[in-house]
Amino acid sequence: MKVAPTEDETRRAGPSPRLELSGIRRSFDGREVVRGVSLSISTGEVLCLLGPSGCGKSTTLRIAAGVDRQDAGEVRLGGQVAASGATFVPPERRSVGLMFQDFALFPHLKVADNVAFGLKGGAAANGARIGELLERVGLSRFHDSWPHELSGGEQQRVALARALAPRPRVMLMDEPFSGLDNRLRDGIRDETLSLLKEEGTAVLLVTHEPDEAMRMADEIALMRDGRIVQSGAPYNIYTAPVDRAAAAFFSDIN
Ligand code: ADP
Ligand code: MG
Repeated sequence: MKVAPTEDETRRAGPSPRLELSGIRRSFDGREVVRGVSLSISTGEVLCLLGPSGCGKSTTLRIAAGVDRQDAGEVRLGGQVAASGATFVPPERRSVGLMFQDFALFPHLKVADNVAFGLKGGAAANGARIGELLERVGLSRFHDSWPHELSGGEQQRVALARALAPRPRVMLMDEPFSGLDNRLRDGIRDETLSLLKEEGTAVLLVTHEPDEAMRMADEIALMRDGRIVQSGAPYNIYTAPVDRAAAAFFSDIN
């Protein structure tokens, strides 16, 4: 028999993780590409899912977002089941923000209207929030500009402001900085991180670049062939890789 926890037990256990995946599996054409992935991310925490191309990172993120569905396992958001065998909450009802490398701005909308896109009432009803976000990404002066008037890095910062505007509890980011040129990348990574921390968002950041994970993660989950082979604090993973392949993967950090 399952007994509900007492109030005291609930308090001791603390709040539920914002995002929890347990035992996630996914096959395409008879080949299993995600093979039992479990992870958990709390408020204000950045977890980097790090691994080589093709290891199943994006598939895992898409399942967390609800744009794909697992064959087995469970997705929970804030302690509530979002996807299991019996339950499926669609992406637009998950309170998750999404950012991808090629998640372009809407070219026919001005910067402020892009930021307002996910907000009820549009730019007219959300002036304060739009102003606050544009200021925090350093782009107030572009409020009334068109996307094509901005550089790639500036556009990516607008995309970040747009993703954060509805105050999602969880942000899912798939290689969001890969399209940026090296010169800009570090600055934008740092800005993004400080904004996410200020907002207290739980972040799942997918990347194949060890230096990005080292720079941004509170915790790294190292993925290979559909499985998480090691997880822990960046320093621990870097200094005590689980095997030679993990060591080799980190060896080209400069
Ligand atoms: P990563 O993001 O780590 O590069 P992916 O999750 O995109 O890896 O892909 C993992 C594997 O699953 C790859 O071999 C890829 O070709 C395959 N795959 C991903 N999505 C599909 C799909 N919709 N149909 C068929 N195969 C897919
Ligand atoms: Mg990918």
